[in-house]
Formats: sequence, structure tokens, C-alpha cells
Amino acid sequence: MLLKGKRALIMGVANKRSIAWGIAEAFHREGAELAFTYQSERLKENLDELLDTIGGRNRFPTYPGDVTVDDQLDAIFGDLKDRWGGLDALAHCIAFADRDDLARPLNEVSRDGYALTLNVSAYSLLAITRRAASLMTGGGSIFTLTYNAVERVVPGYNIMAIAKAALEAEVRYLASELGVGGVRVNAISAGPLKTLAGSAVKGISKLRDVTAEMAPLRRNITIEDVGDVAVFLASDLSRAVTGNTIFVDSGFHVMGMASMPTAT
Ligand code: NAP
Repeated sequence: MLLKGKRALIMGVANKRSIAWGIAEAFHREGAELAFTYQSERLKENLDELLDTIGGRNRFPTYPGDVTVDDQLDAIFGDLKDRWGGLDALAHCIAFADRDDLARPLNEVSRDGYALTLNVSAYSLLAITRRAASLMTGGGSIFTLTYNAVERVVPGYNIMAIAKAALEAEVRYLASELGVGGVRVNAISAGPLKTLAGSAVKGISKLRDVTAEMAPLRRNITIEDVGDVAVFLASDLSRAVTGNTIFVDSGFHVMGMASMPTAT
């Protein structure tokens, strides 16, 4: 029960394959009190059905949470303040790029496509952290999800790599700004997973094949692998860890460029 007494908000459950759901199950197992956001009414039913598997939909507060809508974000954190009086952990598991933009060479991405991708996938961490940190009066843990395509080129990741570069820089700056109040900010860099978002990346199957063949642990990761590391980040075990990126990728990040597949 590593998270007993911790109040956690999980953002980004789309379905049972979502990384956010792996985190939710691990947090539930470890005794955390949980609340969730969903992007659209269409996804609320999915979320409710999943919550029924961990104790019942009525047991958990759920909120509409399109991260581009400030009023929705204000409502979430306003309600959590009234309900819980504070917050201990926040999982930001959100990213979006238009499929066409993701498939385009970077130099052909439109101004609007760039703005949308960065708004949802990177600015959202700032908008959410500002509100969450104000509830973390006794300290807390905020973490996001990134992918190891920032300092090396991963064919097919294109515009999302630029969003992740911004996101990773945000983690370091936020950690520096919020550390004095005991709020820690970290990232988990996950290996390739066939989630809704992951499947939009052309070449993800190849990336998984190469991971299984060449990563030090010779296997692909699961959402449970990510969930367990998220437990560590939300728990007091990581009390001196901030501004970090933890790789949950079977060690693939230590491999050289020669191991990268092409996107075709
Ligand atoms: P996922 O299940 O598709 O989750 C992505 C979530 O982002 C969905 O719930 C999606 O909702 C939500 N979202 C998109 N636009 C939003 C908006 N405007 N407001 C609020 N939520 C919005 O895929 P995932 O792989 O678990 O992704 C979670 C995080 O892990 C992402 O940051 C992703 O980049 C990162 N990551 C994934 C992999 C991978 O290989 N899958 C690897 C490393 C890192 P909708 O479905 O309604 O759009």
C-alpha cells in the first residue's frame, strides 16, 4: 500500500490500453484515492466501464477535461479542492497531433497543426501544473509521459518529437520553480506501445519489433511496467527525485542509432 492516503488525479484514460489506465490500476492496487478526467463524453462510457472493474464508477470523481478548455480545468481543480482539500499526485498522460500532421515531414507542418500539437501535448502540462500545484500545499508529485525521440530522430514521430522536446524542458523548469514548495515534477519515457496515440505513429510495429530484438531486456514494455514506475514517482520513495526522466523502455535508449528502423 505504497500510496495509502495519497490523493491522485489521472488524466488521459481513453481505453484499457491507455498508459493512464496502467497507472490507474497500479495506483488503485497501492491504496491511492483516485479521480479521473476524460476528454469527451464519447470516452466517459469507456472510463466508467473500466472503473467498474476497480470498485465501481460511483466511487471515483470523474470530470470532463479537454486540456484546451481553461474553464474545464478550473472546474476540475475547484471541485477537487472542495472534495479533497488538496492533491498529492497528478498523472499527465495526454498528447495529440492531427494524423496528417504526424505523417507529414516536419518542414511541411502547418502553423495551425504545430500550434494544436504543442497546445495539447506540451502547454497542457503548464496549465495543469499551475492549478495542481496550488492544491499541493504539503508537497506533491506531478509526472508526464514522453518518448525518446527528442535527441535522436525516430522516423514517423515528426511533430510529436517537437512537442515532447518542449514537454521535457518544461519538466526541468517546473521542477526548478516548484521544488521549494516540495512539489516534484518528472517524466516517464515509455517504450513503444500500441495505444490509440501510439498507433497513430507510422512505424510503431517496427519499433516494437526492434525493441524485442535489440533492447537490453529483449522485450517490449507493458502499461503495467509504466504503472509500477508511476507508483514509485507518486510515492515517498521518490521524495528526492525531481526534474528527471525515467526510461521505461527495456533499456532501448542505451542502443545506438544503428538500431533505429525506418518508418515504412
Ligand atoms: P492514449 O490511450 O491514446 O492516451 C492519450 C490520451 O490523450 C487520450 O485519453 C486522449 O483522449 C487524450 N487527449 C488527446 N487530446 C486531448 C485533449 N485536448 N484534452 C484532454 N485529453 C486529450 O495513448 P497513450 O499511449 O496512453 O498516451 C499517453 C501519453 O503517453 C501520451 O503523452 C503519449 O505521447 C505518451 N507516450 C506514448 C507512447 C506509446 O508508444 N504509446 C510512448 C511514450 C509516451 P482522446 O482519445 O479522446 O483523444
